[in-house]
Amino acid sequence: MSPLLQASELRRLLLAWWQEKGRHAIPWKLKPDGSLPAPGEPLDPYAIWVAEVMLQQTQLQVVLPYWHRWMAAFPSVEALAAAEEHDVLLLWQGLGYYSRARRLLAGARQMQEQASPWPKDLESWTALPGIGRSTAGSILSSAFNRPYAILDGNVKRVLARLMACERPPSRDLNRFWALSEALLDPSRPRDFNQALMDLGATVCTPRNPRCDQCPWQVQCAAYAAGDPAAFPVTDAPRELPFQVIGVGVVRNAAGQVLIDQRLNEGLLGGLWEFPGGKQEPGEPIESTIVRELQEELAIEAEVGAELITLEHAYSHKRLRFVVHLCRWISGEPQPLASQQVRWVEPTELGDYPFPAANARIIAALLERLQGEDSAAAA
Ligand code: SF4
Repeated sequence: MSPLLQASELRRLLLAWWQEKGRHAIPWKLKPDGSLPAPGEPLDPYAIWVAEVMLQQTQLQVVLPYWHRWMAAFPSVEALAAAEEHDVLLLWQGLGYYSRARRLLAGARQMQEQASPWPKDLESWTALPGIGRSTAGSILSSAFNRPYAILDGNVKRVLARLMACERPPSRDLNRFWALSEALLDPSRPRDFNQALMDLGATVCTPRNPRCDQCPWQVQCAAYAAGDPAAFPVTDAPRELPFQVIGVGVVRNAAGQVLIDQRLNEGLLGGLWEFPGGKQEPGEPIESTIVRELQEELAIEAEVGAELITLEHAYSHKRLRFVVHLCRWISGEPQPLASQQVRWVEPTELGDYPFPAANARIIAALLERLQGEDSAAAA
């Protein structure tokens, strides 16, 4: 069979499967009346853009409530462009990878400055911050049915198995892009890309792929080889660096809590947090906290009881946060390593966007304070 014929057969099989088993209730892929669009009908590119950025590191079921809240708060690109970064980060809280939210905001402002707000070419979209070729292809095919291929994690996995590729996809990106483009249905790119993503998310899953339900089983080289879950081949996993972070929940005599806002750079840039830093080798954690409070805020504080210890894994490191309650003694807090510092009431902490690990610290603090109130009232 010629490669061209095989591609057309793979398209036909995939689209027939998708028609029956695909995920058709994704709100940004539907018209306002809830029906599926005809191939020539455009959808709202802003709604799709927001969803695609949220989906970059996060699964659909997690994204759905965030997307609904976001669209209620910022229903148009104009509304987003006019928003305060603080409010944007607050709505993003819990989704992680906060630079995505800041880039979305920057992209909306950039888009506002263009003569035509909704470009239909790849170059214009990839010129926006945080938009790569696959995200741009997905937005353009979804919104305008433009024939651009995609290559997200799901698609890489499906194609790696289809070809039984002997090398990790990251080392063969040109080959994977060429295959995704060759397979793309030029007359139904919106449906085809969605079908490919749905296949990866629901059938050709990372572990235990459901090959008995797959429309491509007969053509799949990994299935023929007898161990489809062995693909995609990966490089040997590297050991993640591990660090212990001493954190101080510092309270003043009025019962307020000290928080600081991180600089804008980095993974968690712009978010608020409780002050702290890395434990030096051989250093008691109480000394770490005292030192960090002096170095980063120029304050003296007495370290008290442990509030909570928790672990959090990022893609590039594992952290253990050892959190102690502290009593402020002296010194006007200075933002020596942050954008700003603020004393806030414990009940106001929910008004600030914090990283996920800090949200657990807040919960522990509020629980502790509630316990103290109850004991005092007894
Ligand atoms: Fe994935 Fe199995 Fe289908 Fe191959 S046959 S594409 S491994 S689900």
